[in-house]
Amino acid sequence: MLTYEYKLDGTPVQYAAIDEGIRVGQFLRNKCVRAWMDRTEEGKSFATMSAYTAVLAQQFAFAAKLGSQARQASAERAWHAVQRFYENCQQQKPGKKGYPRFKHDCRSIEYKVAGWHLEPDGRHITFTDGLGIGRLRLIGTRAIETFPVQQIKRVRLIRRADGYYCQFCVAATRQIDHVPTGKQTGIDVGLNAFYTDSEGNTVDNPRYYRKSEGKLKRLHREVSRKSNRHKDTTKPKPSQRGNKYPRQTPMPSAQPPAAQRPPSKNYQKARKALSKQHLHVQRQREDDARKVAYALVMSSDLIAFEDLQVSNLVKNPYLAKSISDAGWSLFLGWVRYYAGLAGIACIAVPPAYTSQNCSGCGRMVQKSLSVRTHCCPHCGLILDRDQNAALNILQEALRILGHRKTATS
Ligand SMILES: [Zn+2]
Repeated sequence: MLTYEYKLDGTPVQYAAIDEGIRVGQFLRNKCVRAWMDRTEEGKSFATMSAYTAVLAQQFAFAAKLGSQARQASAERAWHAVQRFYENCQQQKPGKKGYPRFKHDCRSIEYKVAGWHLEPDGRHITFTDGLGIGRLRLIGTRAIETFPVQQIKRVRLIRRADGYYCQFCVAATRQIDHVPTGKQTGIDVGLNAFYTDSEGNTVDNPRYYRKSEGKLKRLHREVSRKSNRHKDTTKPKPSQRGNKYPRQTPMPSAQPPAAQRPPSKNYQKARKALSKQHLHVQRQREDDARKVAYALVMSSDLIAFEDLQVSNLVKNPYLAKSISDAGWSLFLGWVRYYAGLAGIACIAVPPAYTSQNCSGCGRMVQKSLSVRTHCCPHCGLILDRDQNAALNILQEALRILGHRKTATS
């Protein structure tokens, strides 16, 4: 499945219609989850949930506006949440199992193969269900029109901080021509360098969040300042707090108490600016992860990395932000993806002792996190700590691979 994304160009009325669709989709999904929680007939399986959305469309006029396939896709989302919960329980995954929750901030709506029409030039899309979204222009460089329409299995409308987007899921596979390089690479991801490979090359850690942190903090302060959630007009103002003779009764005000007033225009603006900045950081990180992963996959025939449980690592309060900022999971996800496309081996090894053992003689050399150089007292090997770990990872991966080969032959 390939996903092509375009930005949408439409009118405020059309965007409002998309918002309405997103709300309806969320409503239907939550209703299905509720049915499952209450153990009613409707919530038993995907088929019953799907049928339930049709019943809901009869009950609620606003739900009928959304096309029937989009309603089914909402049921699919609900069922997906339930299924994932079951799977986690069956596999006895440690920690929380992800009991399905109600969504309150949905940002997308999915259509299957009906309810929309793509124009042959691939520049415009028209939504034909009762929401009245109408015809939208697609902004992007990808050529969706080169695929037969039958291959487009999903169309997704997404709201982001900087506008509305349309994604097409196309049933097609992509392949990368991989020229064998004869290189096998083990990588050790870290905080000082983004990763160190087994030859000692390093890639810098871009630390996008850290670079934007000051700006994000400022924007966040703006949001807090302009929010009226914490404002209370009945309390004396800071200037009156030290007043010996405070006013007995607060000034009568024509306005309702601040907490009940709708959020102000300036608050909305500040919130938007903040979410845009977050989106910017997210995109920078994504872009970097993809490029680095692609370059890595193209430059070697086998890639080995540690099977990190990032969710456990971020529990360390001193390093959580740095680790999250590095985006290892994102990066390793892309390495796996590109390796799959290029048809090269990509092996995750269990992370035990990779940094403590000596890559030369295999004996254990204890060192704390602050020791950056590996000096082996047994065989005299002196290496960078991370390169030593990368070599261990590569050796472990080759060992695993050897086991697999003897098992299959
Ligand atoms: Zn040694």
